[in-house]
Amino acid sequence: MSITGSSACKGDVEVKTTETEKSKVPFVDLKAQYAEIKEEVDGGIKGVLDRCDFILGESVKAFEKEFAAYCGAQYCVGVASGTEALHLSLKAVGIKEGDEVITQANTFIATLLAVSYTGAAPVLVDIDPETYNIDTNKIEAAITGQTKAIVPVHLYGRPAAMDEIRDIAARHKLFVVEDACQAHGAYYYGDSGAQRVGTLGDIAAFSFYPGKNLGAYGDGGAVITDSNEIFEQVRMLRDYGQKVKYHHVMKGYNSRLDTIQAAVLSVKLRYLDRWNELRAAHAKRYAESLSGVPEIALPDFNASKKLSHVFHLFVIRVRNRAGLMEHLCDEGITTGIHYPVPNHLQKAFIDLGYKAGSFPMTEKYADEILSLPMFPELKYGQMKHVAETIKGFYGK
Ligand SMILES: *Cc1c(COP(=O)(O)O)cnc(C)c1O
Repeated sequence: MSITGSSACKGDVEVKTTETEKSKVPFVDLKAQYAEIKEEVDGGIKGVLDRCDFILGESVKAFEKEFAAYCGAQYCVGVASGTEALHLSLKAVGIKEGDEVITQANTFIATLLAVSYTGAAPVLVDIDPETYNIDTNKIEAAITGQTKAIVPVHLYGRPAAMDEIRDIAARHKLFVVEDACQAHGAYYYGDSGAQRVGTLGDIAAFSFYPGKNLGAYGDGGAVITDSNEIFEQVRMLRDYGQKVKYHHVMKGYNSRLDTIQAAVLSVKLRYLDRWNELRAAHAKRYAESLSGVPEIALPDFNASKKLSHVFHLFVIRVRNRAGLMEHLCDEGITTGIHYPVPNHLQKAFIDLGYKAGSFPMTEKYADEILSLPMFPELKYGQMKHVAETIKGFYGK
């Protein structure tokens, strides 16, 4: 399994970037990144070991402060995972059984799971063919008397159309809970000026799954918000529903960001902007070398000046995807599909009552999308190998 999802490649490609930079291209290369920051990370972890403050220790408080400041938010709460960040965000704004929460049909399953954990029903909206994010023209048709929130997903690292989404939410008095799990550090240049994703709604959820743009060395997540009230709710929800030890004012959870993970994240946060710039540069290079091939549709990232895309994933659409994937695999290149089975056609969500044909764009794209290797440490030679192998497959 590749780090951020499915991989059709036969087993994991053993990666030794130093010796086989050209011929083996992993989907993500965490070892290359660790090599770059080893001393700082090891020092951070050792600090926690020396202090033994493993639960909600000094490093958690420090990281929360740093991540809030980085995003431009008032408050941050470290939690156990991105899924939990979404779950606790929804709970904190009062989502409960009988409510409906709108999100997009193509997203990682966790977006829907988090809604289900609250007892509410996920209501899906198809994706926009250009941006692959929620189609804002189709949101209002999905709103009912039970709708309480919209969860836009900044899928693949591309900010959703937040001005439009906020307008709709304001008109219908809905909460906006951003799923920013794939878009750490991305900017949106909307009606209120340049803002990082996560500060564009009422509350936002981030995942620090190892392969994310900001990844821990295990599970982790965070919530950011400007609302003191929502902040206090999430803080209690993640820690058994207590504010004062052993005084439980609600049925909370054990859902805290691990202190060792926080120490790792503080180190990596200092590199995030540079890593995101490298991702964007790699995306540009991929796009240049793959343009003009009629069998390939490239992601649209120059058309809009309203955002910065942080390319958690570089997703193209192709003809004969299965054949191409196998060919790439034979050449030592690992690719992924995000995601191969639309959520509304997953067995786990049969109860939502959708069927094949419910979301035509999501279903069409599920058969065509292909995620190419994308990580900051990707080398020029590796990208060249990927592009040439793809072009070779189509006889270019
Ligand atoms: C990764 C991810 C999540 C879940 O995060 P975890 O930390 O794995 O629980 C939720 N939504 C999206 C869009 C994601 O990519």
